[in-house]
Amino acid sequence: MNISKKNILFEKVSSLPGVGKKLSQYLKNKKIEKVNDLLWNLPYSFTDRRELVTLNKLEIGKILTVKVKVIKYNFPRIRNLPNKIICKDELGEINLIYFNSREGYIRKILPLNKWVIVSGKINFYKNKYQITNPDYVTTVENIDYVKKLIPKYSLTEGLNEKSYRKIIELVLSNLPLVKEWYDTIFLKKMNFLSWKNSLINIHADDFKNDINSNSYRRLAYDEIFAHLLVMSRNRINIKKNKKKCKIFKRKIYNKIIMDLPFKLTLSQEKTIEEIEKDLSSNKKMFRVVQGDVGSGKTIVSLLNIANVIESKFQCALMAPTEILANQHYVLAKQIFNNTDVKVSLLIGKTDSVKKKQIIEDLKNNKINLIIGTHSLFQKNIKFNKLGLIVIDEQHKFGVAQRMKLAQKGGKECDVLLMSATPIPRTMMLTVYGDMDISKIKEKPLKRKRILTLSKPESKIPELWKFIKNQIKIKNQVFWVCPLIEESKHLNYSSVIKRFDLIKNKFPGKVGLVHGSLKKDEKEKVLKRFLNKELDILVSTTVIEVGIDFPNANLIIIENSNKYGLSQLHQLRGRVGRGEKEAICILLFKENLSKNAIKRIRILKSTDDGFLIADEDMKLRGYGDILGFQQSGVKYFKIADPIHHKQLFEIAKSNIKQVNFDNNKFKRYEFLIKMFDRAEIVSEYNFYEGSDVPAETINFDASSKEISK
Ligand code: ADP
Ligand code: MG
Repeated sequence: MNISKKNILFEKVSSLPGVGKKLSQYLKNKKIEKVNDLLWNLPYSFTDRRELVTLNKLEIGKILTVKVKVIKYNFPRIRNLPNKIICKDELGEINLIYFNSREGYIRKILPLNKWVIVSGKINFYKNKYQITNPDYVTTVENIDYVKKLIPKYSLTEGLNEKSYRKIIELVLSNLPLVKEWYDTIFLKKMNFLSWKNSLINIHADDFKNDINSNSYRRLAYDEIFAHLLVMSRNRINIKKNKKKCKIFKRKIYNKIIMDLPFKLTLSQEKTIEEIEKDLSSNKKMFRVVQGDVGSGKTIVSLLNIANVIESKFQCALMAPTEILANQHYVLAKQIFNNTDVKVSLLIGKTDSVKKKQIIEDLKNNKINLIIGTHSLFQKNIKFNKLGLIVIDEQHKFGVAQRMKLAQKGGKECDVLLMSATPIPRTMMLTVYGDMDISKIKEKPLKRKRILTLSKPESKIPELWKFIKNQIKIKNQVFWVCPLIEESKHLNYSSVIKRFDLIKNKFPGKVGLVHGSLKKDEKEKVLKRFLNKELDILVSTTVIEVGIDFPNANLIIIENSNKYGLSQLHQLRGRVGRGEKEAICILLFKENLSKNAIKRIRILKSTDDGFLIADEDMKLRGYGDILGFQQSGVKYFKIADPIHHKQLFEIAKSNIKQVNFDNNKFKRYEFLIKMFDRAEIVSEYNFYEGSDVPAETINFDASSKEISK
């Protein structure tokens, strides 16, 4: 069968002949929606049907292929008895047994007195060799279709191997001719085959799932290259947006510093300088500050905000939740107390009269700093002169959203993102390749290390007295509850059960938050905890990172071995923000795995989120890395950032040689589209004065240059 010459890789699977609604749905269950997606569903193993034997050489239990002549039919007219077809070659005899088959069908595929090719598992019954429901029956001319290594794919219900094989073979035999995007010298040096041959190989060759085979590596490299390419290009495009340099003399800044009850850490100072440099340059800033929980990112952003306000621009600070926005607001009010800076808070709850006033004041430049949630980006909000957007806890946004944020605020607006999720060093470029990165490596000196202990659950009764004492010395307690099963319901019931137990021990002082609560209700409880109306907060892992609970100094994490290292570290980071010593108790059920013991040991030994992220990646692979999941970076379809580390390095250095001019860049269109990276390609010069309109960057599959 042939499909039209047009490249249909980027179209829906239903555009393939023979793929109807039902089949499309089955494929969709396997996350296969576009034809292209079929390519990355790799065979998990192969069935070897290459061995063609004569009937005197049959081996019981083996999958073999035979060439036989159909001698006689036996169609019993009794229900449940199978049809039997007797076949022979020059040297022996075999029966083909068919359950649930129709006579007509058998007469058609196994015509009497004709030679056919049959493949299947050999068994032995009542002194006769037989094949029950043969996997393949075909004509002698068609032997090559069967006598080979046949890939096995993991399939979902409703999809059978043969019809799936037909589809993937159809796609593979109709791959478009594409112009190579690497130069010949490079291909040779890497021992890479063409894109097309590599693809055919990994589906048709017994590459033994070897992700080190040349074909696999070529495609993995393609994917890595495509990803880094898009990140680099986005970065370049953002930098092309020229803005006025912001000029400031750190006047307000110095005033604030004078009043601070602490000294900035070296990392904080360095980060502030990096940001200042961006602000005072004529290129748009698009920077992320990566700093562990409690490293003091908020003050860094506020000091830079002070500078931007000093250069007569407005600033917006956006937080993911109202509570956090409110906390930032309180801090900002305090910090800008002795200055002319006007700060306002805009959240969902802000009443409409006040809201109206704020909108008016923003328009008239009467507000210098607005703090809020995503409500800051409503259409009816117009700034007079927005110069900086700061987005706290940016991991809530994916790359595509990030690109949109970069465009928000207009031409003069710089963008600063803050993230509390350290990314392993080797993943930095993968996750943040489109941005500049500042790292806050150390924590404020005064802060003590959180004492981390691990205890079996059987010791819970001993904790009650301990908690009582903590409450006596005015410490608050987090109790993070079981993540026993994936099931939400179980999670829910176990957190309620635990809550009931603790509430009985400490009446009137215990709060509960979990994922099934409405946002409003959740915030209400958190607020009560923040205001010290509650001593203990029982919760699932829903508590937002970022909220400062300076009085919470004990956190108890149940079932701690079920969490990844980074997540435990983030949970732990919810205490110890004040000056008192904080304690984290990791509870576990008996029988810890080796890995779990290792994890606990690492947590006990270090408080460095970056190091922990590195270790987490080593232990669990990249897909489980918290930062990676949260970053919104697409999963890699076939490349493995850990295993193919070297390919990342090679891609990184090769991308430096890439010509990003639109004309030259066109050669990568197909590649980028193939790995679904096109949707995160930023538009070129998003503001007025761009020399090339965004529309000319065309990621249309049928682009003439790439498909014939
Ligand atoms: P995060 O990086 O997690 O957002 P925050 O900005 O909320 O951290 O800071 C956590 C706490 O540390 C705050 O109470 C803040 O006032 C305090 N802090 C920030 N910088 C310093 C510093 N250099 N020395 C001492 N305390 C600091
Ligand atoms: Mg924060």
